[in-house]
Amino acid sequence: MNSFESLSLSKKLKSVLSELGFQKPTPIQEQSLPILLQGRDLIGQSATGSGKTAAFTLPILERLDKDFPDLQRNPQLQALILCPTRELSLQVVSEIRKLGKKHMGLKVLALTGGVPLGPQIAALEKGIHIAVGTPGRICDHLRKGTLATESVKTLVLDEADRMLEMGFIEEMDFIFERLPSDRHTLLFSATFPASIEKLSRNIQRDPVRITIQTEQKSNPDIEQRAYVVLPFQEETFEFTDRLKLTLQLLKELQPVSCIVFVNFKADAAELARELVRFKVSAAALHGDLEQTDRERVMAKFRNQSLRVLIATDVAARGIDVDSVDAVMNFDLPQKPDVYVHRIGRTGRAGRSGISITLILPKQKNKLEHLEKLTGSKIHLHEELDLRNIPLSEIGANLNLESNMETLFIAAGRKNKMRPGDILGALTGEAGGLQGSDIGKIEIQDYFSFVAVSKTVAKRALKSLQEGRIKGRRVRAELAR
Ligand code: AMP
Repeated sequence: MNSFESLSLSKKLKSVLSELGFQKPTPIQEQSLPILLQGRDLIGQSATGSGKTAAFTLPILERLDKDFPDLQRNPQLQALILCPTRELSLQVVSEIRKLGKKHMGLKVLALTGGVPLGPQIAALEKGIHIAVGTPGRICDHLRKGTLATESVKTLVLDEADRMLEMGFIEEMDFIFERLPSDRHTLLFSATFPASIEKLSRNIQRDPVRITIQTEQKSNPDIEQRAYVVLPFQEETFEFTDRLKLTLQLLKELQPVSCIVFVNFKADAAELARELVRFKVSAAALHGDLEQTDRERVMAKFRNQSLRVLIATDVAARGIDVDSVDAVMNFDLPQKPDVYVHRIGRTGRAGRSGISITLILPKQKNKLEHLEKLTGSKIHLHEELDLRNIPLSEIGANLNLESNMETLFIAAGRKNKMRPGDILGALTGEAGGLQGSDIGKIEIQDYFSFVAVSKTVAKRALKSLQEGRIKGRRVRAELAR
């Protein structure tokens, strides 16, 4: 298919497409439109800019035409589109309005936080066909009874992974429970961690899966490498030699998130101190940490305000992270199954990953067994000799700081705190932040964490400290 002509779209929509200068479908449109026009559920991988908005909007508009030849009469909500942020919601609304410009009387409404409820309620009372919004605000309307969902035919989750990352799952579940079960459900996501697969199983019926190959590696395999630690004569120098290799490899790889596994607890703390000294955004997770410190370190790693996490195998058990770019074995684990388990932390969810293992020359013979266990080659690198390069030189200009910062908020689920409340406080009139400056929002029982861009962290903190969340003052501070 290389034009929109062959699709069973109405003349009206075809003429709009040609007026907008859409000459041929983008790859995601080419794959998904025939399926969506048949009314099947779909789970699609797509990035912004791929044309996915039109991919889900065209079938919605096509169906509206059939069900509502006269859109002006008695408008009822036909489609609900959930987006992670206000900006994305507004973009989607504007794209739908463009595509729906010949649907006379079409009512599309943005329902997001950060703006007053009143005008939204007034618009809802007059009736709308398509609502686009963030889970928090949509929930508010459902609770207030201002949004009727019994007529919804199509549910779209846009950037579903981002919504989960921002901690919207409870709001989303609340919404799903209030939608007709015979609806049509479309899920778009850039990544497919286990949480997305689970969500799809819960809310979709026999979805067709569509993946658009990007230029990036589509091979989810883990690239395994081993580096020989030199020199090996002088046992006492070994830590520094491993440290040099670690720094050099981190510098080359520039992972956004990497777990460095150590066999010994004492090495975890020591390595963390050294990495921090070289301005790497790193922290250690080991059994001796207090529970609250553990929670804080893990939350910071999950939301990417920590790039490198150093962990013993015991401490790593509780790390609940979807996937990391790289796993590094500071030493070869004693047991082969531990190696397999460690490297399984990367390359998940269809992404590629890399595992790096530092070995002593006498351990080279162990690699073959590990290759058999993992079913793929371990590339041995013996050439990286850093003996004559001073540590300070290797550690200079690593460029491994994080550009995110974590704010701790002393209120959580038990205080009825929801992600939308935090998002609202930060992006509303008082906060003034852009959605793109806000990362993962994590609500725990009695406290919450939110990642924000470093450049706006002070401002974000100030707005949380000076403003109110749900009408109350809450304590907020930088999570160090
Ligand atoms: P999206 O990925 O949905 O945010 O869309 C990215 C941009 O591409 C939007 O400005 C669309 O209007 C535009 N667009 C979508 N589909 C097409 C197409 N088939 N041909 C040309 N432009 C398109």
